[in-house]
Amino acid sequence: MKYDLILAGGEVLDPAAGFRGVMDIGIAGGKIVAVGPSLPTAEARRTIAVKSRLVTPGLVDIHAHIFVNAHDMAGDTDRFCRASGVTTLCDAGSTGSATFAGLRQVIDREVRTRTRAFVNLSAIGIVGTSRGGELSHFPYADPEGCARTISENPDLAIGVKLRYGPGLVWEYSPEPVKLARKAADMAGGAPMMMHITDSPIPLPELLAHMKPGDIVTHCYHGRAHGIMGQEKQLVLKEVVEAQRHGIIFDCAHGRSHFSFPLIEKALDQGFLPDTISTDLTFTSATNGPVFDLPTTMSKLLHFGMSLDDVVARSTAAPAKILGYEGTVGTLKPGANADIAVFELRDGNFPLRDSDGNTITARRRLIAQLTIKDGRVWYKRPPE
Ligand SMILES: [Zn+2]
Repeated sequence: MKYDLILAGGEVLDPAAGFRGVMDIGIAGGKIVAVGPSLPTAEARRTIAVKSRLVTPGLVDIHAHIFVNAHDMAGDTDRFCRASGVTTLCDAGSTGSATFAGLRQVIDREVRTRTRAFVNLSAIGIVGTSRGGELSHFPYADPEGCARTISENPDLAIGVKLRYGPGLVWEYSPEPVKLARKAADMAGGAPMMMHITDSPIPLPELLAHMKPGDIVTHCYHGRAHGIMGQEKQLVLKEVVEAQRHGIIFDCAHGRSHFSFPLIEKALDQGFLPDTISTDLTFTSATNGPVFDLPTTMSKLLHFGMSLDDVVARSTAAPAKILGYEGTVGTLKPGANADIAVFELRDGNFPLRDSDGNTITARRRLIAQLTIKDGRVWYKRPPE
């Protein structure tokens, strides 16, 4: 048999690879080996008909949390991911130099989802406490340890995470960003991911310390000093300029970082997120408003982003940042056979942002089938 599996007759969409239209996907040895019309099903051990379903690369969530404390999915990571078409994710700085070994243990023992991680500038990482954030105590800032952790874990660690916000950093100045910059540079030019929600100082003062390839996460928060400054009307020219120069703007929904009024204005002004992510934790996956990555994608579709843009920014774009270009987040032959199959369902779907605003979306992406490394990893039960 030439193929282990053929996904037959789906509406294939992988904008970055240029695949669009009704096609079959042939899989063998855990890899995609053919994409085209009418593959010979007689040469496949198994054929799954996915007619009128949307077939995309397995989704890549560049900002989620999988460690074990108040901000985690831990042992539930696979359950949440496979039921939403996510085959790859990145832990966004749940751990730092002193706790990273614990994250590795969780991943090695409990997580099959393909995983990468940012290392927090704080040695202790994100701890679930109301007693102050991970960098409210200056000595926890550990640029040397952060850089060393990245260098010593090349299979997992990809860059530096900094949460810049009230109660999170020891000083409301660019000093914490400068230390994150130092750690990223010491780690051989690794990217820095910076959380900017409710920043006590204007975003341009932080952007001044970022380089192309660095990531601004929570770019659609509606609180202080976001991409539209305090006026919240127009995307700041420094922000537009930064994106043009290659700084990545990631939306990372989360419980407090996704504002419908701001998104509507930003998209109207042509400011799209470079990557679409969830900031998913156990709580936001279970109680909302995030639920999962297809729901975040559906919200952006509602505000006028095209399906092509939404899919590319949830697959190929984050995969490239995570170092998986050509092997993950793509349906090109030779890539790992990580594939998501969705129903783009019509109806009336009330969806919430992080600030209590509600929309009624007319379309919603619902994951139906998830293939990971060539094997069926999830199939939605009949409703
Ligand atoms: Zn986060």
